[in-house]
Amino acid sequence: MSKIVAIVGRPNVGKSTLFNRLTGTRQAIVNEESGVTRDRNYGKVTWNGVEFSIIDTGGYMDNSADIFEEEIKRQVQLAIDEADVLLLTVDVESGVTDLDLNMANMLRKIDKPVLVVVNKVDNTERTFETAEFYSLGLSDELYSVSSINGSGTGDLLDKIVEVLPDLEPASAEEEELPRLAFVGRPNVGKSSTINTLIGEDKTIVTPVAGTTRDAVDIHFNKFGHNFILVDTAGVRKKGKINEDVEFYSVMRSVRTIENSDVCVLILDAERGIESQDLNIIQLVVNNRKGLVIMVNKWDLIEKDNKTMEQYRKRILERTAPFTDIPIIFASALTKQRVLDVLKSAVEVYENRKRKVPTSKLNEVMQEAIEQHQPPMNKDKFIRIKYVTQLPTLAPSFAFYCNLPQYVKEPYKRYLENQIRQHWDFKGVPIQIFMRKK
Ligand code: GDP
Ligand code: GDP
Repeated sequence: MSKIVAIVGRPNVGKSTLFNRLTGTRQAIVNEESGVTRDRNYGKVTWNGVEFSIIDTGGYMDNSADIFEEEIKRQVQLAIDEADVLLLTVDVESGVTDLDLNMANMLRKIDKPVLVVVNKVDNTERTFETAEFYSLGLSDELYSVSSINGSGTGDLLDKIVEVLPDLEPASAEEEELPRLAFVGRPNVGKSSTINTLIGEDKTIVTPVAGTTRDAVDIHFNKFGHNFILVDTAGVRKKGKINEDVEFYSVMRSVRTIENSDVCVLILDAERGIESQDLNIIQLVVNNRKGLVIMVNKWDLIEKDNKTMEQYRKRILERTAPFTDIPIIFASALTKQRVLDVLKSAVEVYENRKRKVPTSKLNEVMQEAIEQHQPPMNKDKFIRIKYVTQLPTLAPSFAFYCNLPQYVKEPYKRYLENQIRQHWDFKGVPIQIFMRKK
């Protein structure tokens, strides 16, 4: 189960610097092992063996414009709803402000852990100035950090890990079932799609263990397959506020995506793919989940025999370099191809589990490498000796060679495409690592 930590605080207290510091602590390891690219505002941290996600709520705000206090408060409220632990970040240079007090008032009412992080404590003198933040009335302990030089962040991470809830792992039986999530902007038709699928024969509804929010997973059977639809209540609950903002769609999707195996991103056919959709795709890819794109409300589109192909091309231009994605044109209203979406999600689920035998993999890839050698770098020949698929949950491949650091992105993409041409990894992000032989 995913665990989410949200950084809240008014502008300029150093939220994004803190975010970079906390996620950067692990970055060195992540790059080597899995190559996960980090989103600007969303990252994963492993500390003392505990993995969690961090979200910088401020990162989704437009800092250049005047931000209304009202808007900031809404963001804090959403963070309260969606996160497991809140970090209220304040600035020792400016001391306690009214806005800090307002946020503290909101946070005092909740029964989730809130840690007060006093930032910009760059030296010992400043430590003496932190005491005034006790007046926020939030905790017996303050965490003094300097996000710029890193001091105090180790203690903060220790504490975060200590207060994170112990989420029960799913049962062994549940582990085996594909976990599907429907994500997308408000009004694209997520609830309609789920209703079309479930219809009246709603089976078992289980509240998700360990979460206080009303996430509900639905067990579900279609064409002989059992599934779990992840977080259906979260999807069907209607937002009270104008949620058509990058921040809201990301914040609402994070946990759902993390708890799934395959995500169905629903688009509104009349609107096409937008930047928020790309953010969601980025989240899916960063979490190495499978992806299906459903273009919903296809009934509203005037079409001829070229429309679908043109539409497909336009979407893939935006998702590049990840373009091996199934796209289904459907209508939750008329039920057209809604089952195809489900079928496609199952295929992607299978693709994500695919393991290519090492001998076959080397046979095919050696030929591909011979046909198109890695370009020389600084007059040095790069020799790739062999390749193996790593025993990771989502597909990743290690190529062993003499000078791994000289193999650049375009060549890695060539290798990835070759793999995709020979084996079906449709809808699945692939990771390619170059390793020293
Ligand atoms: P945000 O708006 O809350 O995300 O704040 P930023 O992370 O953008 O930081 C605002 C300003 O505070 C920037 O100029 C940072 O360089 C500075 N800053 C952030 N953390 C520290 C710190 O630990 N010490 C000092 N002296 N400055 C900091
Ligand atoms: P959600 O916010 O993503 O859960 O979206 P909803 O399922 O609530 O749908 C938003 C609106 O779009 C509702 O008025 C639906 O009736 C409508 N809608 C959903 N799917 C379709 C579809 O396939 N075709 C048409 N024409 N309308 C749809």
